[in-house]
Amino acid sequence: MGKKIVIAGAGVSGLTLAERLTASGDGVSVTVLEKENCPGGLARTFERDGFLFDIGPHRFHTSDSVVSEYLLDILGDDHITISRLSNVYMAGKYRSWPLTMKSVSGLPFPVLFRSFLDLFHRKAKGELSTFADYVISKYGKNIYNYFFKDYTEKFTGRSARELHVDWAEAGVNRAVIDKNVKADDLFSLLKSILIPTPVSTNFYYPSYGGIQTFCDKQAERIQKNGGRIMYGCRALGVETSGGKVSGVKTAEMGVIPADHVYWSPPVSILFPDAGFRFMDTLLWNIALSKQQENHYQWCYFSQKDTLFSRLTVPRNFRADTVPSMADSLIVEITLNNQKERYDPESLKDRLIDELERVEALRASDIVFMDWRIIPETYPLYDLDYRKRLSSLVLPEGLDLTGRCGSFWYNNMDHSIGEALAISSGRTFSKDFWK
Ligand SMILES: Cc1cc2nc3c(=O)[nH]c(=O)nc-3n(C[C@H](O)[C@H](O)[C@H](O)COP(=O)(O)OP(=O)(O)OC[C@H]3O[C@@H](n4cnc5c(N)ncnc54)[C@H](O)[C@@H]3O)c2cc1C
Repeated sequence: MGKKIVIAGAGVSGLTLAERLTASGDGVSVTVLEKENCPGGLARTFERDGFLFDIGPHRFHTSDSVVSEYLLDILGDDHITISRLSNVYMAGKYRSWPLTMKSVSGLPFPVLFRSFLDLFHRKAKGELSTFADYVISKYGKNIYNYFFKDYTEKFTGRSARELHVDWAEAGVNRAVIDKNVKADDLFSLLKSILIPTPVSTNFYYPSYGGIQTFCDKQAERIQKNGGRIMYGCRALGVETSGGKVSGVKTAEMGVIPADHVYWSPPVSILFPDAGFRFMDTLLWNIALSKQQENHYQWCYFSQKDTLFSRLTVPRNFRADTVPSMADSLIVEITLNNQKERYDPESLKDRLIDELERVEALRASDIVFMDWRIIPETYPLYDLDYRKRLSSLVLPEGLDLTGRCGSFWYNNMDHSIGEALAISSGRTFSKDFWK
């Protein structure tokens, strides 16, 4: 009763926690501090002239019934169910993922043949400690070299041997391969190519607005339950007294008193010298006057001569994310500390050429192109990251949570799952990939 809880960050983690705590009837006072002027964090949506752009492809997919019950409770009837349609661009062609007989035909024969031979000697010896170890042990050297290595090195700006194995376990299993499709090692992948079994890989998406609709609805509930959300309020750190948390320092409102703080902004704000590094993403949101020939929801590009790593087509999530007869593209370029990429205008002409080259658009159909730099989109899992995380000393009453707060390469459903567990006193494993 009367306990003051401050939650830094109004992303999916902070909002789920605030929504549950304010709904619990425990009489706690809940304040959420958010530096932006709206909720959502990485699950935000930008709107211009009737075009809606999420931050890359955002969809809800979970096999956890508690999480799916919660998200359907928040969305109510305001959701649609869509089947997944993801692609990978390889050897000059769009190919569905997981690969099928049809989509592999046309891959260079030597790659296919050597990949087949890998079946017989792909098991790694010893401990798997890097991204490269993990992928080679699962798919063999040839598929690793042909796709995963280039994609990952282009994406992170790091050698695949300098990335912690968790980057592969969390990222590869989830982002490229759908859990419902058994393609999580070379043998299953080949089996799924040769004997494809129909699988339904559906996901949820709001029936109006973009992905941010979910967070808008959570924010409405929090306010209705008596919680407070302070937008445009940047948390700078925590205040302590006698080893216990006593408040959150903010840039705009001084110190907000707190008995307990849940922190979801980047952990590097609290521990600037601990070496936690994040990657930023440059998003180009492109509006097009006519529909293009893009049949995927999102597509991965591993080619090192292409600036972008992924393209998203909002119309294939829901038709009314663009005005009638129009189209759009969301282009993701990881910035990974390459200085020249922080000057988006200087990349524009090259980007348009590349998008034309992969037939993703016709330049003459471009209505507008907006760019945004989204900071801290991905934690960078270098080889020591676990050691650094476990050596942090936190004052009593402070919990690190969410994607950036706990340096966790997660998805929205994991953020929700963690917040539901915290608010109901359950334990939660962050190693969801295990
Ligand atoms: C390109 C991309 C595509 C993705 N696709 C999917 C997908 O398809 N499905 C899926 O489930 N997940 C997806 N994700 C992951 C998903 O976005 C995250 O897991 C989820 O949104 C994390 O929520 P969070 O609240 O933990 O973190 P965040 O969303 O990062 O929330 C942190 C909040 O803190 C705020 N903040 C930061 N600093 C401060 C400060 N100093 N003071 C106050 N507030 C601050 C931020 O503005 C933000 O609102 C994707 C992520 C990216 C980057």
